[in-house]
Amino acid sequence: MKEKGLLIVLSGPSGVGKGTVRKELFDQPDTTFEYSISMTTRKPRDGERDGVDYFFKSREEFEALIKEGKLLEYAEFVGNYYGTPVDYVRQTIEEGKDVFLEIEVQGARQVREKFPEGLFLFLAPPSLSELENRIVGRGTESGDVIAKRLQTAKEEIEMMDLYDYVVENDTIESACDKIKAIVTAEHCKRERVAKRYLNMLEVE
Ligand code: 5GP
Repeated sequence: MKEKGLLIVLSGPSGVGKGTVRKELFDQPDTTFEYSISMTTRKPRDGERDGVDYFFKSREEFEALIKEGKLLEYAEFVGNYYGTPVDYVRQTIEEGKDVFLEIEVQGARQVREKFPEGLFLFLAPPSLSELENRIVGRGTESGDVIAKRLQTAKEEIEMMDLYDYVVENDTIESACDKIKAIVTAEHCKRERVAKRYLNMLEVE
């Protein structure tokens, strides 16, 4: 029997750089995880492509996906829906490949409930003040949205205890190195390795 892949969930507070770390990870040629492209009702930003960055959906389409049970998790974040397609995740894991989700914390909590054997990584800012600089420095959001994002972030930081590992986003490169090291360690877990050998020997 083929060994299943890992479900790797990268989450963390708004503005911490989850998207940037994820992009860098998938730009690195030695990254072997499969990225699960999310669904969203947010409008595409400049340069974003449907089916590459997100699957862009209308609210009606998204709500139909929820009803049909097509999402592993979903959340409403700053006025838009975001969600993870369940079939893709299950199929890819069954094929023995590691699947990588980059999602906000409400979604991560739902995945933890449905898929407790996943590997949950919390991307943490070096400090709250730096988080604030990053959010304000982004410059694309109105004052209201910034305030909302900051409030959400404070709440999210308190949620760290739901996770298996905390990866401090000191530099993008070191965050990526840490994530890969954690995934490698997870593959070396005694339970996984022993199971593989026992399967090979066909010992019960
Ligand atoms: P953005 O609009 O900046 O691309 O993403 C906003 C937030 O939504 C980010 O924190 C991102 O991690 C999160 N996000 C992206 N895809 C998903 C998803 O499928 N599910 C959930 N719950 N959050 C997502």
